[in-house]
Amino acid sequence: MVLKWLKPRQTVGFLTEIDIEHLLDQGIRGLLLDLDNTIVAWDSHDVELAVVDWLQRAKTSALSLCLVTNAKLERVERTIRPLGIPYVALARKPMLRGFKKAMHMLGTAPAETAMVGDQIFTDVLGANLLGVYSILIQLPDPKEQWWMKGTRRLEKWVMKQHKPTKA
Ligand SMILES: [Mg+2]
Repeated sequence: MVLKWLKPRQTVGFLTEIDIEHLLDQGIRGLLLDLDNTIVAWDSHDVELAVVDWLQRAKTSALSLCLVTNAKLERVERTIRPLGIPYVALARKPMLRGFKKAMHMLGTAPAETAMVGDQIFTDVLGANLLGVYSILIQLPDPKEQWWMKGTRRLEKWVMKQHKPTKA
């Protein structure tokens, strides 16, 4: 069933809700991060203080971080360089090359890697295809390009299919 590749292993409201200790307990050593609507609001360069704090905690834990984003290099550098996190820009998710490159940079196998992002058809799909633990950020009302509206509607439908049917 195609839908199983679109099912996140975990769903959270915000990045900062992810329990770093819990990831480590599950044997996760590498964490791949999406940029827009994950670390920053769409079209913003400002990383919220709570996110900076969470990223610092993750970095000082046994986790290694790498950004995997479809965003352009210039935008990525401006946002991420101050945080000192390595990155793969123009990754063309859900194509697998960017994910693989990031794991190679971190030296982690898929089974010990998690990917966190806000899109089912890029972040979750790519991670699932590789056997990477997928974490979906479900923003209640994400700000983004107008043409994302159709995709979001489809995502909603997909998430509905994942819910166990009521008797
Ligand atoms: Mg995103």
